[in-house]
Amino acid sequence: MIRDPESFDLFLETLRKFVLERLVPNEERVAREDEVPEALVREMAAQHMFGYSIPEAYGGLGMTTEELVLAAMELSQCSVAFRARVGTNTGIGSEGLVADGTAEQKQRYLPDLASGKKTGAFALTEPDAGSDATALRTSARKDGDHFMLNGTKCFITNAPIADIFTVMARTGADDAGAGGISAFIVERGTPGLSTGRPYDKMGQAGSPVSEVYFDNCRVPAANLIGGQEGRGFKTAMKVLNKQRIHLAALCIGPAIRMLNDAMAFVAGRKQFGQPLMNFQLVQAMIADCQTEIQAARALVLQTARQRDAGGDVTMNASICKYFSSEMCGRVADRCVQMLGGYGYIADHGMERFYRDVRLFRLYEGTSQIHQLTIAKHSLKQAGYSVGK
Ligand SMILES: Cc1cc2nc3c(=O)[nH]c(=O)nc-3n(C[C@H](O)[C@H](O)[C@H](O)COP(=O)(O)OP(=O)(O)OC[C@H]3O[C@@H](n4cnc5c(N)ncnc54)[C@H](O)[C@@H]3O)c2cc1C
Repeated sequence: MIRDPESFDLFLETLRKFVLERLVPNEERVAREDEVPEALVREMAAQHMFGYSIPEAYGGLGMTTEELVLAAMELSQCSVAFRARVGTNTGIGSEGLVADGTAEQKQRYLPDLASGKKTGAFALTEPDAGSDATALRTSARKDGDHFMLNGTKCFITNAPIADIFTVMARTGADDAGAGGISAFIVERGTPGLSTGRPYDKMGQAGSPVSEVYFDNCRVPAANLIGGQEGRGFKTAMKVLNKQRIHLAALCIGPAIRMLNDAMAFVAGRKQFGQPLMNFQLVQAMIADCQTEIQAARALVLQTARQRDAGGDVTMNASICKYFSSEMCGRVADRCVQMLGGYGYIADHGMERFYRDVRLFRLYEGTSQIHQLTIAKHSLKQAGYSVGK
């Protein structure tokens, strides 16, 4: 749903201009310095990028899902590091509070996340609990009017720079499954909370990711999201369900950008006395990229509209994330191919996108986990009872 089509078109136009004029020219610098410069972060904050999905009552833009995915497709037509910088605030790092936080919790944390004054992170994954997140072992033991957290989280986006962590921990010692998991807000500076050195990664330079450690970390009981124990896994799934549609849109922007860059290249470079774009085998690669981009866009928009209309999008969110992330990988591969040797050389930027987008198929549910979800829902819809 688009609330006001005219002003939203204007918003998208301004965003497109900002991406082209301020973000794209800084891509190499961010990759080289492995950091989005603070001055640029402030500019992004002034564009309200940290608060797209946070309700207006808390200083955000309160975007509907359809608006959010359209904005995401524009914002992501530049290095992934830029949208990763704002992405936890306007995604997994705030959505737990938006979905299930109490009024006091929302009032306390969301305005600073929406303005970009503070950075959020979402800490679910652990060394022994990845695809099977219900196996998480970080414990939260009740201790008077506090909870005592102990454990380790790994692969947490923006953890090295985050101020506000949404943390999933086990409160129910007797319940080893999803029912024993609760969600907490833990603030940077809480004694017993520390973060590790940023990992050296394959790509996405400028987007810091690290481990998070809890060592007798005393968290006020008032920071239990929603004020209820045992609801944390449900909160996490609500966050991820929405985020999967959002992430699918964030796979489409880089694919559009790579195709545009590759088309500019094949239009300019000549072999056998003519531009590469005249060769039909090159045109086939362009056609395959364009077809898949349009298919992903249609799928994501349809699912976003279904979510805005209150529909159950669990399976379709998985379809979006699975198809768009795999699509982006195929587009990256074809675009490197179209550039020939230059596709492999760092100066031309395509190899950076190729490495950056590889992550999309791994996080927020690997492709295999989404295949399982899609198959199980399909079988269930068809009336079959399938094993766990
Ligand atoms: C850079 C980066 C940033 C991340 N950011 C965050 C974050 O901010 N917050 C957070 O909580 N997590 C984050 N993650 C974690 C990410 O979500 C996990 O890495 C992902 O869920 C996969 O878990 P795993 O790495 O433990 O792989 P595993 O679960 O060990 O999977 C390894 C392989 O086995 C396959 N596999 C596993 N189970 C099955 C099965 N049942 N059937 C078939 N195949 C299976 C997988 O598909 C995969 O191919 C991030 C990860 C990375 C690398």
